[in-house]
Amino acid sequence: MNPKIYLSPPHLSSTEYDFVDEALRSNWIAPIGPYIDKFENELQKYIFNSSKKAFLQNNILALNSGTAAIHLGLKLLGISKGDVVICQSFTFMATANPILYLEAEPVFVDSEKETWNMCPVLLEKAIQNVIKKKKKPKAIIAVHSYGMPYNVEKIHAIAKKYEISVIEDSAEALGSKFKKEFCGTFGDFSVFSFNGNKIITTSGGGALICKNAEIKAKGLYLATQARDKGSNYIHNEIGYNYRMSNISAAIGCGQMTVIDKRVKARRNNHQFYKEELKECTDIEFLNEPKGFYSNRWLSCILTSSQKMRDEIIFALKAENIESRTFWKPLHTQPVFRDNNAFVNGISEDLYSKGVCLPSGSNLSENDLQKITAVIKKVYRLSL
Ligand SMILES: *Cc1c(COP(=O)(O)O)cnc(C)c1O
Repeated sequence: MNPKIYLSPPHLSSTEYDFVDEALRSNWIAPIGPYIDKFENELQKYIFNSSKKAFLQNNILALNSGTAAIHLGLKLLGISKGDVVICQSFTFMATANPILYLEAEPVFVDSEKETWNMCPVLLEKAIQNVIKKKKKPKAIIAVHSYGMPYNVEKIHAIAKKYEISVIEDSAEALGSKFKKEFCGTFGDFSVFSFNGNKIITTSGGGALICKNAEIKAKGLYLATQARDKGSNYIHNEIGYNYRMSNISAAIGCGQMTVIDKRVKARRNNHQFYKEELKECTDIEFLNEPKGFYSNRWLSCILTSSQKMRDEIIFALKAENIESRTFWKPLHTQPVFRDNNAFVNGISEDLYSKGVCLPSGSNLSENDLQKITAVIKKVYRLSL
């Protein structure tokens, strides 16, 4: 059997060994320590230094998962039982789970063709519908799926018009940009994930980008069991155990030394697939609209049918190559069967035809050649 080609495996730089070694030797083996501060700073520099926005300082909170970051963001927005949260349907389940943790009510919004992300027209329709029932939505969660930015301008203009806060789920989009500004800088709260399959990893981890240092401090308090300052274990609020560990942060510091290279490699994979599969005229790629810059976290193809989707995944599997379908839209998930949704058929169509191809930054040209050869073979046989 050929060695397995994974969908999106971790890719170390080598500096991680030294950082982790140092973290262990210094005995900062805890969810506190110098690498956590350093990792937050590195992220801060990366997404804000080139920004035209006022340079923010000390507003990034490193946490132990992206899911925790979404949960904490919703909590900091004051979401509680019965509140309506509007959520993009075309995304990974983790985007919406925290809405349920808070016993709030998700309302799902379908995608647009141009970005595969939240459709602005349906978003406005959903907001108006909820307001008609005398219940203003408390938050919107929009997602940069597979690294492609959602239409930041339109989505945020609507949010502003109705005065609704936005949680920007950038879990898949570190390194992506909208009009030259990094994803992760647009939301009232923004979220990154550093899970093992993301563009960089801390093995497991996440970050919450807050509007300022004061809100970050409140987030830190909630993420560390909400212990009142200077008190002898007095708690006035319910907190969580959500802080990143210093060991994970050490890995993250190593990963941040190569983030530009990782983005470039993922974009090159996408370009390679696009060039190499040109002859398969029924296979489509999502192009970047003007002003959109995707980190191409996952390279995605849109086939012509569910049959073709399944044949490609099956043929790749036979060669020990991992590929996946797209996200199953959340409004079609059994757990959300009773929730309201505003749909146009686009996310369901994407799900029925889409394949995520191996996308790791450590894929070799040989791997890429092998993968495209399998796809071309399936395609030719289908003609
Ligand atoms: C990975 C991911 C998350 C969750 O991040 P974890 O770190 O795995 O908890 C949330 N949203 C999206 C869109 C993701 O891809």
